[in-house]
Amino acid sequence: MLFLNNFIPREYQKDDIASRIVKSVVAIDVFIISSSLIFSLFYIYINFSFGYCISFYTAISSVLHILLIRYGKNPTFTSDFFVFQIVTALFAMMYFTGGATSPFSIFLLLICPMPFLFLEKKRATVWAIITGTCFIVLAALQIGGFDFPKEISDQLSQSLSLINFILSLIIFTITVREFHMGFRKINKKLKSSNSQLLNSNEELERFAYIASHDLKSPLRSIISFIGLLEKRYGKDFDENGKQFLKIISSNAENMHHLVEDILEYSKSNKRKIKSEEVNMNHVLTHISDESLSVELFQDCKILFGNLPIINSDYTLIKQVFQNLIENGLKYNQNLKKIVSIQYLDKEEHYFLIKDNGIGIDPAYFERIFEMFQRLHNKDEYQGTGIGLAICNKIILQLGGKIWVTSKVGEGSIFHITLPKSNATHTFNLAKETSVEALPVH
Ligand code: ADP
Repeated sequence: MLFLNNFIPREYQKDDIASRIVKSVVAIDVFIISSSLIFSLFYIYINFSFGYCISFYTAISSVLHILLIRYGKNPTFTSDFFVFQIVTALFAMMYFTGGATSPFSIFLLLICPMPFLFLEKKRATVWAIITGTCFIVLAALQIGGFDFPKEISDQLSQSLSLINFILSLIIFTITVREFHMGFRKINKKLKSSNSQLLNSNEELERFAYIASHDLKSPLRSIISFIGLLEKRYGKDFDENGKQFLKIISSNAENMHHLVEDILEYSKSNKRKIKSEEVNMNHVLTHISDESLSVELFQDCKILFGNLPIINSDYTLIKQVFQNLIENGLKYNQNLKKIVSIQYLDKEEHYFLIKDNGIGIDPAYFERIFEMFQRLHNKDEYQGTGIGLAICNKIILQLGGKIWVTSKVGEGSIFHITLPKSNATHTFNLAKETSVEALPVH
């Protein structure tokens, strides 16, 4: 094998897999050269002139192929030459040994799919078509009565068939083995880069967790001292001073929300997911009570009908629904802000969270689920751009899917599917709830 290394061009040596493949092709060539030379001696011995011509041709073209691999600049051309050399030799042999019924036909049939192993699909198809067409032409000529020369006896022809068959099997096995090993190597490489990615991802999340966790307490004390400052000395400030204090306070609040959200996001990987009975009616009632008590959402409505009891994690489900409902009420200019939750009993649990808010441009349907993606600035709507990223992460962890459909100015619908487990309860619930008939909360 060390000898073969000399034939591998430098550009292939850098890549382990490429050099292995080139080495195997060169090995096949060396195999063809040596077997052709042995055959030619045999053909000389039995006085089969065409046989030794073709054997020498095969040996010489294989040497040329190796030189092309070593010094050629175009790998595709080299591979084409390889196929050309084999196909030409085969057809010449078939022509002189009985046409389509020649023992070499078996060899041809086995060689035909080989280009697909090392050429791109289009080129390999062209070669397969060329090979197939030539074979059909030979067969058609034979059926039409054309008499192909037949220089070998039946007995010899049978032995040759056998040898050809064994040869092609060996070549085929070597090639498949080499490719298999190549794929195994690729898989190994993929696995190791995957685990590297996972590690750096974990490191990043740990960093985000530690950074946001450690930022939390100094920030809390900044906010409370700003409050104290406002309370005790607020009156002593002039208008500019009061304005500055307000800006400091609102920025500190923004930072606090951001730190909280980043912490929440990085915590979501560490959490153990529970599997418990979650009554969605209770979840929605809790959310309604909590959200509608916030001053900003006091005149809003949250509608939901008879929802199912599902098997999931109560805290996570509540977090997702609360986030989506509050977004629906927040990104909303309507005088009567409404968010409704509908359930469809499909193959999976299917929830629709509809709002009559400002809507979302379809161009952003996927981006809003990424971290820090906001479609509005903080002066228009408060937010950090992390809420939907958390929802997406949670729903994926629960084995479900989340996506949005919307029209600008006509509200949005967030769709959530969650897997049904065997333990899922479906008693005492309407199979589906329609928004029109929903009670008001
Ligand atoms: P945040 O609300 O904290 O900015 P989110 O991740 O929850 O972050 O939302 C990302 C962006 O998606 C928001 O900034 C907003 O522009 C848009 N968005 C989310 N929900 C809605 C909704 N119901 N209607 C319109 N836009 C929305």
